Amino acid sequence: MIIEPKIRGFICTTAHPIGCATNVQRQIDHVVVTGPITSSRKRVLVLGCSTGYGLASRIVNTFGSGADTIGVSFEKEPSETKTASAGWYNNRAFEKRAKAAGRVAITVEGDAFSDAIKADTIAQIREHLGQIDLIVYSLASPVRTDPKTGEVYRSAIKPMQSAVRSKTLNTGTGEVSEVEIQPATAEEAQATVKVMGGEDWELWIAALSEAGVLADGFLTLNYTYLGSELTWPIYNKGTLGRAKADLDRAAAAIRSQFGADSAYVVALKAVVTQASSAIPVVPLYGTLLLRVMDEMGLGEGCIEQIDRLFRDKLQPPVVLDADHRVRVDDWELSSTVQDEMTYRWGLLSTETLANLADLDKHRAEFLKLFGFGLGGVDYAADVDPRDIG
Ligand code: NAD
Repeated sequence: MIIEPKIRGFICTTAHPIGCATNVQRQIDHVVVTGPITSSRKRVLVLGCSTGYGLASRIVNTFGSGADTIGVSFEKEPSETKTASAGWYNNRAFEKRAKAAGRVAITVEGDAFSDAIKADTIAQIREHLGQIDLIVYSLASPVRTDPKTGEVYRSAIKPMQSAVRSKTLNTGTGEVSEVEIQPATAEEAQATVKVMGGEDWELWIAALSEAGVLADGFLTLNYTYLGSELTWPIYNKGTLGRAKADLDRAAAAIRSQFGADSAYVVALKAVVTQASSAIPVVPLYGTLLLRVMDEMGLGEGCIEQIDRLFRDKLQPPVVLDADHRVRVDDWELSSTVQDEMTYRWGLLSTETLANLADLDKHRAEFLKLFGFGLGGVDYAADVDPRDIG
């Protein structure tokens, strides 16, 4: 079949196998060309390994520092007539290339929040790696079933206490408008913490520890977004920010059990991913940020951010902020970038968008997540969606 993008709201329901493989290869090339990364952590577990920051973390550790990896992600398999999720194609493309480079690359596909997938992953660690030196937690999900109670929690991306009015962007039409987002109920706020807070991270570390598969001196990382005042009302001061604050609590709890350098929350920059596309206001901010940072020569996507994290920020001595976090959002939040962002934000409208921001690049970046719009791929060719190349 000819595979084309089918966009529904903020997701694309198709993915291109060859395009996804090309996207994975490009990220590998970025790391290889930049050169080897010094790291003693050669046995790595990546939770949420198939797209976005998790995929970049797996690639950087494998192709930058020669690590063997086990990845966990939630995917849809292909059929004769339906494409797989982009993450499924990315996983296959990654495994093939990592194995060709002589590395172990095992992927467990299923619900990382469940006890069954934790047990399955531990069995894979025992069989293939023995123990784990680094655990990267990069899950982004709108829903979580509590493994103890079976209760299903859904996140709600909303402000706390009072309604927020903000500019927003319809990335399909290019229209900039004002939205009013009603505040979350206490129950919605609590559910968001259940889904995106630190509880599952702690459950993973406890399960790995009990199974004896955590190496002495292991490190675990969890990714957060802090952002600037432009997105605070909907993000940092909203339900998601509350959930992210819970990561700081969980990191401190892990450190108190396993040592001062065992767990860091890492603040990353805003990039176009499946998860970030679903957050109101963020696509408008992201469209503007792409243009402003590119103009300043500071543009970075997932692979550049994660490469910088492992190549520079995690090299000893690790510099932490006052809240014990590693900051790779330093360029985005620099006053040079934010002063320009604030100035342009005030001028943003449907009419000025093309001059101030980069919607074309934002759209192109979004399509690339699903394997579309990559150079060198013949999109007119007949492809079997089960063909992983
Ligand atoms: P993403 O949507 O690209 O990736 C999410 C990953 O989680 C995928 O591999 C997906 O398969 C996996 N996943 C989701 N539900 C799962 C489940 N139940 N079981 C197993 N795997 C599951 O997201 P992303 O943007 O890379 O986000 C990763 C982390 O980075 C999040 O914590 C996010 O808050 C953080 N972050 C993102 C941004 C951004 O702008 N995108 C900025 C800073 C921090």
